[in-house]
Amino acid sequence: MKESDVVVIGGGPGGYVCAIRAGQLGLKTILVEKDQLGGICVATGCIPSKALISAAKLYDRAKGGAAIGIVADGLRVDLPALQRWKAGVVSTLQNGIATLCRGNKVEVIHGEAELVSQSQVRVRTGGSTEEIKTKNVVIATGSRPITLPGFEFDGKLVLSSTEALALEKVPESMLVIGGGYIGLEICGVYQKLGTKVIVVELTDQLLPGTETDLVRLVQRNLEKRGAKIYLKSKVASIEKDAKGSRVKARVSTPDGEVALEASTVLVSVGRGPSADGMDLSKLGIETDPKGYIITDEQMKTNLPGVYAIGDVRGQPLLAHKASKEGIVAAEVIAGKNNAADWKSVPWAIFTDPEIAGVGLTEAAATHVGIQVKKSRFSFAALGRALTAGEPEGFVRIVSDANNGLVLGVQIVGPEASDLISEAALAIEMGATVEDIALTIHPHPTLPEALMEAAEAAAGTPIHQVKL
Ligand SMILES: Cc1cc2nc3c(=O)[nH]c(=O)nc-3n(C[C@H](O)[C@H](O)[C@H](O)COP(=O)(O)OP(=O)(O)OC[C@H]3O[C@@H](n4cnc5c(N)ncnc54)[C@H](O)[C@@H]3O)c2cc1C
Repeated sequence: MKESDVVVIGGGPGGYVCAIRAGQLGLKTILVEKDQLGGICVATGCIPSKALISAAKLYDRAKGGAAIGIVADGLRVDLPALQRWKAGVVSTLQNGIATLCRGNKVEVIHGEAELVSQSQVRVRTGGSTEEIKTKNVVIATGSRPITLPGFEFDGKLVLSSTEALALEKVPESMLVIGGGYIGLEICGVYQKLGTKVIVVELTDQLLPGTETDLVRLVQRNLEKRGAKIYLKSKVASIEKDAKGSRVKARVSTPDGEVALEASTVLVSVGRGPSADGMDLSKLGIETDPKGYIITDEQMKTNLPGVYAIGDVRGQPLLAHKASKEGIVAAEVIAGKNNAADWKSVPWAIFTDPEIAGVGLTEAAATHVGIQVKKSRFSFAALGRALTAGEPEGFVRIVSDANNGLVLGVQIVGPEASDLISEAALAIEMGATVEDIALTIHPHPTLPEALMEAAEAAAGTPIHQVKL
């Protein structure tokens, strides 16, 4: 029987990062992946979606370029070519991960792992089975889309995000069930490429859980481009036509039932834990009511020697959170005193405009009894945003009114996903608004918006009138 210090099950951003760190620390490490190295993130999640978003944005900007003197005659979308480019990006990253594993002495086994006990993993590879004796196991098996009865994915008309990201033809129309970030990112792509978009969302706003004033701009943009959005609404049923080329849907809305039609349906109603091959209840591994594995801050489950990281461990389902947890698990296994002690996890939604946040919102800070100060700066007043032709949105800083400590930052606007890192660093380092205000930011750049919002909070605004 093969022996190892640690077997990592699942090669996503949680698992492969964990395996690399474990290898670096001298642990004999085996990484088992049943599908593709890089996991959902690289194959069918973060990376392909962002590749399509970048391409759609480029097309959209070129199409509207005449306003700034760029005339692109004969512009068209070659979706199969775009998909080939996207696939190239994905495989470059997957190959990179394989190289990094080799370089860090991580043995990668392509097969499906079954956790037999805390010290034994069985791997099915093709027709054969291999048993591994191990001192530690890290479960990093990720998540999968939630399916709704009556709305099962068929890969042609009724799609999950995976199929929607791989279309070879721009759909005439797309009915999106669920107005969360995955649905909105994907329909935003196809809308820019010419698809008519309809979004049906159960709650009273798109991107549930995100502050309303951040979401408003995204909704306005979708609608300006012709999207029909039904809030507090539910798709009661869908029916495919005889040719299998269109779907009819009945939607209950606050104003009564509506009949809709579309050439594709994207079902994006959330994701849940994926723990195939792990008979968690038989092994006695504790999960929460939704099935996510419960761990302590060192990623240890209740079963000694078994750790869980990433999406399978629960919210927030984000690649960078999975990777950090992977590092914690590897270092704890190697005997280091690490734990999930970060102050906050930044998040980004790649809609148009982008939304990003880190730390506490005003409501959350107030809820825990902090007296907060809010300050903001609009991109409409920022040189770089105007020169980029993206003047919509703002940066908001939530700080402690008593000592200026930065508690949270929310951004809606151009490159919000990039801008949020400075805010994350500020929170992690315990910076005050004055620290950000006193830091010289290069001009003209988008991060100046954060400096301007910080100046406003510190009582020293230059490019907005002091209230
Ligand atoms: C469309 C979409 C867009 C997204 N965009 C973003 C984004 O912009 N930013 C962001 O931070 N997050 C994004 N996410 C979420 C992100 O992809 C996940 O949070 C991240 O992939 C979680 O990493 P993980 O390692 O926990 O799991 P996964 O990436 O899901 O990897 C788990 C791996 O385990 C393997 N596996 C499962 N069971 C077994 C078994 N028994 N044996 C062997 N292997 C097994 C699977 O094949 C898979 O490769 C997006 C997700 C989707 C679907």
